[in-house]
Amino acid sequence: MQHFDVIIVGAGSMGMSAGYYLAKQGVNTLLIDAHDPPHTMGSHHGDTRIIRHAYGEGKQYVPLALRAQELWRQLENASGAALFAQTGVLTAGQSDCQFLQEVRESAERYSLPLEVLSPKEVSTRWSGIQLPDDFSACLEPASGVLFPEKCIKAYRDLAIASGAKLLTGTRVTGLLTEGDEVIVQTNSENYRAQKVLLSAGAWNPSLLASLGLSVPLVPTRKTVAWFGADESLYSSERFPAFIFDLDDSSFYGFPSFDRTGVKIGRHDGGQTIHPDQLDRTFGTFLSDEGDVRSFLETYMPQAAGPLRDGRVCMYTMTPDEHFVIDRHPDCPQIIIAAGFSGHGFKFASAVGEATSQLLLNETTVHDLSMFSLSRFSEQSQG
Ligand SMILES: Cc1cc2nc3c(=O)[nH]c(=O)nc-3n(C[C@H](O)[C@H](O)[C@H](O)COP(=O)(O)OP(=O)(O)OC[C@H]3O[C@@H](n4cnc5c(N)ncnc54)[C@H](O)[C@@H]3O)c2cc1C
Repeated sequence: MQHFDVIIVGAGSMGMSAGYYLAKQGVNTLLIDAHDPPHTMGSHHGDTRIIRHAYGEGKQYVPLALRAQELWRQLENASGAALFAQTGVLTAGQSDCQFLQEVRESAERYSLPLEVLSPKEVSTRWSGIQLPDDFSACLEPASGVLFPEKCIKAYRDLAIASGAKLLTGTRVTGLLTEGDEVIVQTNSENYRAQKVLLSAGAWNPSLLASLGLSVPLVPTRKTVAWFGADESLYSSERFPAFIFDLDDSSFYGFPSFDRTGVKIGRHDGGQTIHPDQLDRTFGTFLSDEGDVRSFLETYMPQAAGPLRDGRVCMYTMTPDEHFVIDRHPDCPQIIIAAGFSGHGFKFASAVGEATSQLLLNETTVHDLSMFSLSRFSEQSQG
């Protein structure tokens, strides 16, 4: 049985990044993936992901977001690839909405550039947006859009150049601990490692179950759609990425890159699924197109043109929508990176750095306390 210092189970957003930071330090690393990353079977496809620093989900994320942005810049330099477009990100919602409040407080606490805008100021600057009078908005000009497939490809190439081994088309079927080591079973051979990173996205729940750990992770079917839009209003040269936190729903979207149209998705909702039985046909549910089209008709009517494309992807939700980045409580040689709840990609660079540190040392420089597994048992104890 071949032996490695570290085996990474799932070389997608989080796993490929960790593989790079390990290999760069000379760690003998094997990455195993069921597909050939980047690919369209998990959670990282669809061309674009928003990165924001002033964080509506909680100001505790800001240091991780800033470090992630710094590491994406370093990856651009190391790979020579363009991975980030500084479009700015506009967040909008009713003036008293908690998400906007948290964005403003994050910016204040960490001295981040942020412009607070009234509905009139928004439509003066971008005539393609119409907001009700009781809305408010914030533009974070330093943030923008990452290109996820290119990011993963860059990490993959650099990890391999640094000596990592990548096995594609190989499914991990189980994990066993033997003394201080872990046996990783696959559909072909078995491998042995000192340490393992479990970063299998929507498939993490079944692999965790094989280790006797039940974590409340819910794989969810999500869709995104591209609509023909007036390029003079919505092109990426003049229009920001956006998030709308509404009373009963939440939407996010992207300006038109290279005339591909405005891309938009609904963040809340979706269908609970098993990842092996995911219905990958866009349009199976009327809401696949209906939800996002009605959003555009209300707030960005000149972007509600013909449907150009639609794709199906997966979130893996936790009950509080915060991540799980922690050590297995009974097998300290296994680190878990899971439950990224539809907002993890922007952090993948920093999560890769943090998990590589946890694999090599007792601790990491990042504060990961809010991502601990123990919060679920604390919650269930009331
Ligand atoms: C439609 C959509 C829009 C999003 N928008 C944003 C956004 O704007 N900003 C943002 O920050 N985040 C966003 N996200 C979330 C972000 O993309 C995810 O949080 C992130 O990609 C999750 O990374 P991961 O490594 O957990 O999963 P993945 O990238 O899917 O990687 C998991 C990998 O594990 C492999 N694998 C699974 N099982 C096995 C096995 N048994 N053996 C071997 N390999 C296995 C898979 O093939 C896959 O390559 C969005 C997600 C979706 C779906």
